[in-house]
Amino acid sequence: MSILVMKFGGTSVATLDRIRRAAKRVGREVANGHEVIVIVSAMSGETNKLVGFVEETSPLYDAREYDAVVSAGENVTAGLMALTLQEMDVPARSWQGWQVPLKTTSAHAAARIEEIPTDNILRKFDEGMKVAVVAGFQGISPEGRITTLGRGGSDTTAVAFAAAFGAERCDIYTDVDGVYTTDPRITSKARKLDRIAFEEMLELASLGAKVLQTRSVELAMRYNVKLRVLSSFEEMSDEAGTLVCAEEDIVESNVVAGVAFSRDEAKMTLQGVEDRPGIAAAIFGPLAEAGVNVDMIVQNISEGGTTDMTFSCPINEVKRAEKAMGDAKAAGLIDFAGLVADTDVCKVSIVGIGMRSHAGVAAKMFQTLRDEGINIKVITTSEIKVSVLVDRKYLELAVQALHDAFGLERAA
Ligand code: ADP
Ligand code: ASP
Ligand code: MG
Repeated sequence: MSILVMKFGGTSVATLDRIRRAAKRVGREVANGHEVIVIVSAMSGETNKLVGFVEETSPLYDAREYDAVVSAGENVTAGLMALTLQEMDVPARSWQGWQVPLKTTSAHAAARIEEIPTDNILRKFDEGMKVAVVAGFQGISPEGRITTLGRGGSDTTAVAFAAAFGAERCDIYTDVDGVYTTDPRITSKARKLDRIAFEEMLELASLGAKVLQTRSVELAMRYNVKLRVLSSFEEMSDEAGTLVCAEEDIVESNVVAGVAFSRDEAKMTLQGVEDRPGIAAAIFGPLAEAGVNVDMIVQNISEGGTTDMTFSCPINEVKRAEKAMGDAKAAGLIDFAGLVADTDVCKVSIVGIGMRSHAGVAAKMFQTLRDEGINIKVITTSEIKVSVLVDRKYLELAVQALHDAFGLERAA
């Protein structure tokens, strides 16, 4: 018997009818002789609604209660999927994260998976159950509280189960038929990739391409999980979708594999901070403790012993960042003249393994943006990516221009 993991995202379980369609796919794999672990997301829109309730009730919420609330959406779909399968005479049972138990760290709202014991579910398979339906996105902390894995976390649940059970494959069913050169919602020229390297997918995901959660790609890479992204709305075929695989398994690829973006960025500038050894630690330590995910950092030229420190973070963490900096100042840890938040920016990035061996890619990106009259506010680079912060109103224009400039609508 071989085990398959099939994950259905929010749009794929958005209605009872779609749950039935997804269940039919699962039924076909069971008929093919597989035992299946199905990971489900909440119905689309459900998690956003729950997050909204939390933020309205308590703007600087206790993350333990946030998790208690936002994990609930997946419980509903797990039970409904099991019931739907039972109605189709497929022996199925649902599990919430704590019942598995999917053990995580206690970093609420961004917990990491530590262990997935397989005995419970394997025993049920031995007893004749064919499908284990598991609520994605959630687990249990060492303290015994419900945790969640961060937005998009059901992808990570799926890959972690595939690794723990040595599954033959991990299929991520979503509302697009694979990974594209950029979000197909931004440009119709976006092209579906048959294959993409783990490293490239990892960068694209962490830079905003939400088709896979970053952590799921990390896990797939580490445990060599055969990871496929495909549409739950199209007919099944072995060649469908995009395979996320090792670099060696890709024959030809463009220098730039894709363009990613993150709409909800903020640029924060601490003005007039003292320029002394330890100042970066004094600023970014408290930000990290407050759970602010700082991405880009720029320290400006210092004048008269003080400097400006600029960093970017997700827009919904601005309040936390302001509070952390205010508290640090009140406690005498840092001093600054002002804190300015620019919440009208976005981040646009190009990603490609080919950049390791090609010079001039960053320059071409900057020229392309210049030709469109787009001002760059902050730049960061790594071996296989270049990211810029620009005004949000230029997001679509920047993505389209870069997609054209690097010829992404054509295969290499
Ligand atoms: P699910 O609910 O199934 O997890 P998500 O909304 O999390 O689905 O992810 C799928 C979405 O990711 C697509 O609808 C698409 O708009 C977006 N997306 C962003 N970048 C890409 C990309 N490079 N390729 C494909 N989809 C992308
Ligand atoms: N429902 C959660 C979210 O919307 C987890 C997921 O769908 O992957 O983020
Ligand atoms: Mg998702």
